[in-house]
Amino acid sequence: MRKSLPTLSFELPRRRMIENQLIPAGIQNQHVLDAMYHIHRHLFVDQALIARAYQDSALPIGAKQTISQPFMVARMTELLNLQGHERVLEIGTGCGYQTAVLSCLCQHVYSIERIEVLHQKAQQNLLKSNIHNVTLKCADGRLGWAEHAPFDAIIVTAGGFASDIWMQQLSKGGVLLMPEGEEGKHCLVRREKKSMGIEETYFNHCSFVPLLEGEQYG
Ligand code: SAH
Repeated sequence: MRKSLPTLSFELPRRRMIENQLIPAGIQNQHVLDAMYHIHRHLFVDQALIARAYQDSALPIGAKQTISQPFMVARMTELLNLQGHERVLEIGTGCGYQTAVLSCLCQHVYSIERIEVLHQKAQQNLLKSNIHNVTLKCADGRLGWAEHAPFDAIIVTAGGFASDIWMQQLSKGGVLLMPEGEEGKHCLVRREKKSMGIEETYFNHCSFVPLLEGEQYG
């Protein structure tokens, strides 16, 4: 009988990611650091890239898209300041890694991906990770998800310009967080929906894959 290989848990690389990358880069929220440790990033990348899963870089996930850099996932999650009761909408599921991190910190994540193959990959990755408080769909995220609105937070993980619908689908006190700007020159912006209007704060410069219109099947 063939000996079964031990399951790789990558515990040390995960700990190093927290201690050598995220904390020195300024991530302070312990709940976010715990979630980044808890979620196994190597389950969200292709086998061929598994040795690079805990490097501080974006990696290809197919269909010309990427899994975001761990620092950016942690930073965006931290800026949402989740307390645990929230219903969050994510635009741009990709491979589902950010979805998984969010799922540790809020009540439920609704996540939309426009590319069918990635939507399916994310479903599998989240199942493998034993995550169940998420609902995914393949659609154009620019239209939001009226059926489940309003959301306490909306996070967009592709760069571009905000759709008006997102602000409409936020609850009062809700937060929209996204990389905004022209291609390759994004800046993280957080907009809070207050009773007297919208409070806007700008954070890190960054570069994300573009936010596109419509769906892509096949
Ligand atoms: N959240 C991912 C990042 C994926 S990259 C992570 O954890 O690493 C951004 C994703 O946004 C891509 O998969 C891209 O296909 C998707 N995307 C771009 N425009 C979109 C849109 N209008 N609606 C839904 N998804 C979109």
